[in-house]
Amino acid sequence: MFKDVINFIQEIYKSKDFIPLHEPKFCGNENKYVKECIDSSFVSSIGKYVDVFEEKIAKYAGAKFAVATSNGTSALHVSLLLANVNQNDEVITQSLTFVATCNAIRYCGGHPIFIDVDKDTMGLSPAALKVFLKENTTIKNKQCINNITGKVIKACVPMHTFGHPCKIDEIKQICDEHYIFVIEDAAESVGSKYKDKHTGTFGQLGVMSFNGNKIITSGGGGCIVTNDKVLAKKAKHLTTTAKVPHKWDFNHDMVGYNYRMPNINAALLVAQLENLNYFLKNKRKLAKTYEEFFKTQEYTFFKEPKLSKSNYWLNTLLFKDKKQRDKFLKETNTSNVMTRPIWIMMHKLPMFENAQCGDLTNSEWFNDRVVNIPSSVIK
Ligand SMILES: *Cc1c(COP(=O)(O)O)cnc(C)c1O
Repeated sequence: MFKDVINFIQEIYKSKDFIPLHEPKFCGNENKYVKECIDSSFVSSIGKYVDVFEEKIAKYAGAKFAVATSNGTSALHVSLLLANVNQNDEVITQSLTFVATCNAIRYCGGHPIFIDVDKDTMGLSPAALKVFLKENTTIKNKQCINNITGKVIKACVPMHTFGHPCKIDEIKQICDEHYIFVIEDAAESVGSKYKDKHTGTFGQLGVMSFNGNKIITSGGGGCIVTNDKVLAKKAKHLTTTAKVPHKWDFNHDMVGYNYRMPNINAALLVAQLENLNYFLKNKRKLAKTYEEFFKTQEYTFFKEPKLSKSNYWLNTLLFKDKKQRDKFLKETNTSNVMTRPIWIMMHKLPMFENAQCGDLTNSEWFNDRVVNIPSSVIK
């Protein structure tokens, strides 16, 4: 039934062998920089590439500061700590996200609250957020108190799903009015812009991931971007074991974390960043190709939302229903074309099943219909 789609994807990738969902592409200075890094012997947490990367990604994103981390999850963890999320605090996020978002909340002892996503973005819905806050919270002493649990809602973590920006300016506005700190999970949206501004730079803090499956990679890695000098300084301190800078003394002024990105990963990443604009162009063209092809099919291709420029990290199809989706998943995956449903929603996982939820109609709708199709840069 989906033979034509399988053929089409095999033609795009000029391959009858296994076609992965998203593979990294190394076509620039990766070998050169990594070799230079090894030759210098500075492969770990000290070295010029970490500093070079931080400077370059901050400039690229239009943020004042960037702090490189060991991965996106550690960047989220530290960001939540900086938002002062402690034992029993609450954090609003979407149920339709990757588990790292919610794990990081739990690392701090916090509890997620799940709000719905928008139909046109797949990201956190400002309208749903507004309704939830209006019906369930009271502002007391510049804190947003959850009427049901009596706990403080400290932060909100909207996520830019598959690289498509959510309506982040409205979310930030609503959170500001409720004294809620905004951390953007921009792990998937490196290179994506909303209203000409890079995702991750709307909230007080933004988090990116450079895992192997993301648009650019350091093997494993992440970063925090911010315009707040104090937060940037604290982020760097917390991620470097809270060591008080000194030429020889080992002095630490709090419990810190070993979350710094190693220099060898940063070397790889600096080379990747040099090709980001090429990747973005290539992936945009691929998305256009898919969009044209799927116009003739009985299911739809998910396009970037209005006022946005998406990185089209993972291309998405929306099926008529779960049955059709499952048929497609089975046919493609047994034909060596890798496709994947969206994550099982967070409130269905055992560790978050008791979480408070808003209405999740749109999340449920996407859950039954989304399939990601091969999205690697075309050679
Ligand atoms: C990839 C990802 C992360 C985590 O990044 P890692 O670098 O894999 O730790 C967090 N949130 C979302 C939405 C992601 O897709």
